[in-house]
Amino acid sequence: MRVSLVSTGDEILLGEVLDTNASYAASLLADHGFSIGRHYTVGDNLDELISVFKSALSEADAVICCGGLGPTRDDITAEAAAATSAVDLVVNQDVLEDLKNKFSMLGLKWTDNQERQARIPEGAQVLSNPLGTAPGIIVQMQPAWLFCLPGPPREYKPMLAGPVLAKLIEIRNSRSDSKNTGVRMLRLFGKGEGLVENALGDMAASIPGLSVGFRAAFPEIQIKLRAQGATSQDVETILDQAELAAREKLGDLIFASGDTSLPAALLDLLQAKNMTLAVAESCTGGLVGKLLTDVPGSSATFLLSMVTYINEMKAKLLGVTAETLEHDGAVSAACSKEMAEGVRRLSGADISLAITGIAGPDGGTDDKPVGTVHFAISDKTGTETKLRSFGFRNREYVRRLSAYTALALVRRRLLEPPAGAE
Ligand code: AMP
Ligand code: MG
Repeated sequence: MRVSLVSTGDEILLGEVLDTNASYAASLLADHGFSIGRHYTVGDNLDELISVFKSALSEADAVICCGGLGPTRDDITAEAAAATSAVDLVVNQDVLEDLKNKFSMLGLKWTDNQERQARIPEGAQVLSNPLGTAPGIIVQMQPAWLFCLPGPPREYKPMLAGPVLAKLIEIRNSRSDSKNTGVRMLRLFGKGEGLVENALGDMAASIPGLSVGFRAAFPEIQIKLRAQGATSQDVETILDQAELAAREKLGDLIFASGDTSLPAALLDLLQAKNMTLAVAESCTGGLVGKLLTDVPGSSATFLLSMVTYINEMKAKLLGVTAETLEHDGAVSAACSKEMAEGVRRLSGADISLAITGIAGPDGGTDDKPVGTVHFAISDKTGTETKLRSFGFRNREYVRRLSAYTALALVRRRLLEPPAGAE
């Protein structure tokens, strides 16, 4: 079922307000298996809006319009909807009464122009708006449906995700040609988008009903599996088959499916192994600690992240030796090793991680160019170090990639522990 989106308002057309409603709607509806036809943007102009409604309704099964339902004269969506379906615009007495009640409950002064918000195309269905004043409107124009929703995102989003989505699903189910659809997202880190696609091969060709999409959501890669089948069980089977095939090819580079982030996947793994983690950070400045503590409940396994930014603090707090700092420097395998061992000693964690590197833009040398980052992972079996050279795009790039790499290294160590580590 094809859905198109119309955003109205001069402020959207002129770029003063970002059209976040359209991106929210498109991704929500695509995730629910609707195909997104077109996005239209139109100003506060009645003739333009009527013309957009007509063409949108001629090429889609449903059109969702946002904005222009308020009380002012530039709010013309209800009028355009009535004109498009060739019916009168009438004041709906129930809506009017409801509006007046809302105004008195909120202690707002009633003005006559507010009555505009109660004007509904004759025969249309009214969609209540618990978070605002203007109700939504649903007009059935054989064979397509027009949904008009208020513009403010805090009103628009819940109305779309609630009653409108439910209605769209109901319309889809009532159609004889309707198919069941489903989406599953696999998330991975450690391989670029192109390489991931190559590794998977043409999965969609070998699994009927499947389509595959890729998205680089730096620094992770997301694989979107979409399936279509006669029954919801068929859809699940296609998605399971596709996920299995992807995992066979990419192994545990795939850290999760669905909403689980890399930090959350790592914390889950630590919890499953009943282990605790401590971190010593330098160039990431606390980003690893931030990513881990973004996950609710992280205190069950995450004990500490120390940001030891200058040499003196690495020495004083973590016990990095003067010899290491003089001979190898702060950005070195030896320093990362001593940092990881220091923070593990201090915290009593089962496993620890250290990061020290050059985030740039300055501070690089021929030997250690910007983007050089050393990592160390320490547990009771010993300490392992890794060097990565990320190159330089910008400081944020190096720091984010470093933090994710660090989390992925700990995860790898937990998945493939050396003998005696647990
Ligand atoms: P309206 O319903 O046209 O009076 O819109 C009310 C307010 O909602 C506008 O001033 C915008 O700030 C916001 N708004 C309208 N359309 C959108 C949209 N497509 N995306 C994000 N915000 C919007
Ligand atoms: Mg407007």
